[in-house]
Amino acid sequence: MTNTEIVELTHQHLVNIYGCLPLAFVEGRGPYLIDADGNRYLDFFCGLAVTSLGHCHPAVVAAIKSQAEKLIHVSNVFHTEPTARLAERLSKLCGGARVFFANSGAEVNEAAIKLARHWGADHGGRFEIIAMHNSFHGRTMATLSATGQEKYHQGFQPMLPGISLVNYDDLEAVEAAVNPKTAAVLVEPIQGEGGVVVPKTADYLARLRKLCDHHNLLLMFDEVQVGIGRTGKLFAWEHFGVRPDVMTLAKALGGGLPIGAMVARPEVAATLTPGTHGTTFGGNPVACAAALAVLDTIEKERVLENATAIGNYLMEELRSIARTSARIVEVRGYGMIIGVVLEGEARPVVDACLKERLILNATAGNVLRLLPPLNLTVEQAQEGMAIIRRALTA
Ligand SMILES: *Cc1c(COP(=O)(O)O)cnc(C)c1O
Repeated sequence: MTNTEIVELTHQHLVNIYGCLPLAFVEGRGPYLIDADGNRYLDFFCGLAVTSLGHCHPAVVAAIKSQAEKLIHVSNVFHTEPTARLAERLSKLCGGARVFFANSGAEVNEAAIKLARHWGADHGGRFEIIAMHNSFHGRTMATLSATGQEKYHQGFQPMLPGISLVNYDDLEAVEAAVNPKTAAVLVEPIQGEGGVVVPKTADYLARLRKLCDHHNLLLMFDEVQVGIGRTGKLFAWEHFGVRPDVMTLAKALGGGLPIGAMVARPEVAATLTPGTHGTTFGGNPVACAAALAVLDTIEKERVLENATAIGNYLMEELRSIARTSARIVEVRGYGMIIGVVLEGEARPVVDACLKERLILNATAGNVLRLLPPLNLTVEQAQEGMAIIRRALTA
């Protein structure tokens, strides 16, 4: 089928909720995608921060193939080795934490919200969660309620009670919102969807940690977009030296397969006992085998070092363009999550890059978001930058 045929067939039958581009892809290799008409694109989007090792990384493909040939699913009534091993791996990376597996970012955030409520019920009948304006936590009713963006709430009210929204990067606002019913604070260490918003107050997260300790609240980090190497560290909180009580992961974890993980301090996780939560597909052995291959590859191929170096190169280049262009307000980010804040809409820049076969993303209206593969080479980075430079200076 051609691009047009696939796009038309899709639009005839799929619920019309995605403002997608009229492109269908049939193959991916590293940072490149091939569309149904045979055109090659450089991918600085990675399926929304998912395929962080590039498309079809051989180690991920091999792990999926090998597991799929052995066993694909048994349910959480039983155990499988990849599930056990991935839980062990994530637990070790997070100081002995306990792990819950689901299939998406929204589901693990939903689990974190339920964990906070259950823990709060055990700790004096508390249930409120403080979340941030301009955040993004998912599309289920609870995660939507914690998503501090009015546009996503439209038509779905009433939202879940017991969630209060305060400004991001504003500790006093959190302090003011704390009350005897507060159980937890939920925050993205760096807001992704909201426009790659990095806390300007250097010790914001450290002070949030202190505040949570002082009031005995759970500090919950949504690392769905920034976790698994995106920022040049395995977890974004490592940049700030602040450990959460609960962390959620999804997007890049499975190398492209759907998987999410909620990781919680054992004392906190203990509030969830048999029968209190669950999901049929969570911990699927094929997805877990893929995730193990992702974590192995990040270590073996020194992917974090590369993400830091190439990310810095991209940010320096963008900042050098910014110095001579009134169109760029700010360049911000960590490692390979980079936001270029523009004077006007980012969409025309995305379209201009797409014409030159570079895939980028616009978010929060005026922010051009770069989410390139973490193992991008210097040459590939230069190839992309040349296109971005033309699009930004045109
Ligand atoms: C994408 C995202 C989610 C939602 O993940 P889904 O897999 O789409 O449900 C939640 N939180 C953050 C920070 C995200 O970027």
